[in-house]
Amino acid sequence: SLSLSLSLSLSLSLSVILSFFSPFWNWVLGDPLFLEPFWVQHAASSAIVVAGWHRMSYRYQDNSFVSKELEKHIQKLHALVGNANTTGKFIAFGAGSTQLLNGLIYALSPNDSPSRRIVASIPFYPLYKLQTDLFNSVNFKWQGDTSLWKNRSDSSMDFIEFVTSPNNPDGKLKNAVLESPSVDTIFDHAYYWPHYSAITALANEDIMIFTLSKITGHAGSRFGWVLIKDEGVYERLLRFMNLNSMGVSRDTQLRALKLLKVIMGGGGGGGKEFFSFGHKTTMKRWERLNRIVSASKRFSLQKLSPQYCTYFQNVTAPSPAYAWVKCEREEEKDCFAVLKASGIIGRAGSVFSAEDRYVRLSLIKSEDNFDFLLQRMDALVSQEHEEE
Ligand code: PMP
Repeated sequence: SLSLSLSLSLSLSLSVILSFFSPFWNWVLGDPLFLEPFWVQHAASSAIVVAGWHRMSYRYQDNSFVSKELEKHIQKLHALVGNANTTGKFIAFGAGSTQLLNGLIYALSPNDSPSRRIVASIPFYPLYKLQTDLFNSVNFKWQGDTSLWKNRSDSSMDFIEFVTSPNNPDGKLKNAVLESPSVDTIFDHAYYWPHYSAITALANEDIMIFTLSKITGHAGSRFGWVLIKDEGVYERLLRFMNLNSMGVSRDTQLRALKLLKVIMGGGGGGGKEFFSFGHKTTMKRWERLNRIVSASKRFSLQKLSPQYCTYFQNVTAPSPAYAWVKCEREEEKDCFAVLKASGIIGRAGSVFSAEDRYVRLSLIKSEDNFDFLLQRMDALVSQEHEEE
């Protein structure tokens, strides 16, 4: 009976732990493995070898935690792609952009000012809220959807607005909703690369976040960066980084440098090969899924239009990272369950603070995974026509 109660309490605590982590599984699975074939083809040129004695110190020779060589390559990359203006901006690194999201909130919320209100527009990437709640600070609080605050006259409200552009989950290019001198805006441009969106303009906002995870696909290396205009905000973010993790792994910085060199055409070609591969893959996936879903009355996808891309110097077809599926039948309020019953596992709309009539499907996983998704979606839509 002792072993029974032991195993019972073990399985109970395991289920508590799992249920605690379950919201996390819901957003953690956006791995861009669709880029793996590119890296298989460039296995040798993208490899790094690090001898045991190499890079042992906490710091670089200039006493900082930041590789100046990597910083230079990031500036070159933005200039090449034309997606963000780095002139006059400071660059800070983080363990993925995840670490920077909260670091920036800290940097924008000084101790001696009123508590700042953190907001984003539904549907939004869940981490903004989850992290803000986790840190539970007196200096900042989660305050929900921007639309709740848009037309309020109390403009003294001291907001920090997250703007994800292109947006996760629906791939749309977004602008800030709240505009007043007392609002700081954090632009999360994780997906503002030619594989996921047309580059429509050179972004020049005061705070712009990017991540290696979505450009090269190396999510596991945990490397992100932010371009910051204001020196005071930059200094406070550095303080956060120094106290929180003493900078970013030097091994990771070395790997990021190598990968960026390769995608910028280390072997010639000015980087077009990488972005053409990325864009072609995502565009074709979107087109194939669209063809299937457009024959359905039961499901619909977000509407995206072709746009002129300054990088490809062409009008390009939509190529979002995710499909934002809607269940159109009145009675099918739980779209996640509807798709799951047919073997399609997405992320429920409520994960993004939207209705559960929506589900996000990832289109950036491996080719096999995507083929299964298409087969199952095709079967579902065919079944709908048989019912008619
Ligand atoms: N922002 C957005 C909009 C994302 O979708 C993600 C990852 N799914 C991140 C930030 C975090 O990515 P990472 O920490 O890997 O840089």
